[in-house]
Amino acid sequence: MKVLKFGGSSLSDAKQYQKVRSIVEADKSRRVVIVSAPGKRFSDDHKITDLLYLCHAHLQYGVACDTIFEMIAERYRSIARDLSLSVPIDEELAKLRDRLSHGASQDEIVSRGEYLSAILMADYLGFDFIDAERWIKFRFDGTVDREASYEALRGAMGTRGAVIPGFYGAMPNGSIKTFSRGGSDITGALAAAALKADVYENWTDVSGILMADPRIVENPEPIAHVTYDELRQLSYIGAQVLHEGTIFPVREAGIPLNIRNTNEPEHPGTLIMEKFDDAAEQSGRFITGIAGRRDFSVINITKNGLSSAVGIMRRIAEIFEAHGVPIEYTPSGIDTINIVTASSGLKDCLYSIMGEIEKSVQPNSIHVTEGIAVVAAVGRKMAYRPGISGKIFATLGENGINIRMISQGPDELNIIVGVDNRDFAKTVRVLYHSFVK
Ligand code: ASP
Repeated sequence: MKVLKFGGSSLSDAKQYQKVRSIVEADKSRRVVIVSAPGKRFSDDHKITDLLYLCHAHLQYGVACDTIFEMIAERYRSIARDLSLSVPIDEELAKLRDRLSHGASQDEIVSRGEYLSAILMADYLGFDFIDAERWIKFRFDGTVDREASYEALRGAMGTRGAVIPGFYGAMPNGSIKTFSRGGSDITGALAAAALKADVYENWTDVSGILMADPRIVENPEPIAHVTYDELRQLSYIGAQVLHEGTIFPVREAGIPLNIRNTNEPEHPGTLIMEKFDDAAEQSGRFITGIAGRRDFSVINITKNGLSSAVGIMRRIAEIFEAHGVPIEYTPSGIDTINIVTASSGLKDCLYSIMGEIEKSVQPNSIHVTEGIAVVAAVGRKMAYRPGISGKIFATLGENGINIRMISQGPDELNIIVGVDNRDFAKTVRVLYHSFVK
């Protein structure tokens, strides 16, 4: 059995609904469908969720929201009309209008984006509509009670397929609560885990996770296979991929996650699994993806005898901890250590931190280098395969890029280089082309 989640751009109008139906009908095992609210039809268009937030904000300040409400209503009416659906959409919209004027909470209002989208889709597919508020159970602390939710969903499933609205659930007192933005992905993952799906298909408007940022590399290729660990590396270091909250229910349940493109349904997209079998690992690229971020600071601390002293690392680490600044990397040499951290976190405390290090460690010197970008080549197949780091350093050298820092963990899942901010995009491009060509 497959659980499918469709994002807003896959549901933006009747034409997109038709594509969704062809995808669902192409495979009998596609039985559970989670939907977002309709997204943009063209670049200047509005997402329904944004319009709903806007409606609520207007009313908060006592400003009428009729024009915005009409824009929302017309989007749903036109989908229902173009697909000749029998859902009483006008009644549903009237209910929403009524809730708006009776002080409904922001979460309740914005959740109606997915609710309306799901009732239309259930009608169109001939599936049951299963409301998310019936089974996604939040605790008062805002976390999801997964066991209770899973059980409730299993109990709610009928014999037909089901359509579920994404993005929200219910608090113990019955009030509606939404996840953070983009949260329909989480609904889909929870449903897949609850129903022990064979695969969780996440349908969007790109043919999988791209090997590099398309704003930097022209037309990067999608990644065919990626492990959850690699994905974590790529997203941590800056790739715009699914956020972790999305992934943990399916990852824990050992369910493969497949990112697919509604507008190119034949494309296999990206398959994300804990591990791939050996045969699959023999082919394909050594590097899975390249990602990075600008604006790191490196604090260099040098002190005679530092390498053999005991407890200095702890003292330095405690100072960063006291200021709530995470330490990202610590490349070190003999009697010198470098603390690498995002510059944004040091904005208000750099000098305090340096002063406290001076006092506590009494270094021979301490200085800061700013404007460092970090770029990682991520790939599970790099492990034990000689020559990859050599190729990276040679390629960067040939292209005149000065490497300011190198870091590779013993898990050999990635090789990280620090370069000047101004070399960032060039580094990503050069690495991409040297490994993908
Ligand atoms: N519609 C919600 C949002 O725009 C949730 C989602 O699409 O995943 O954030």
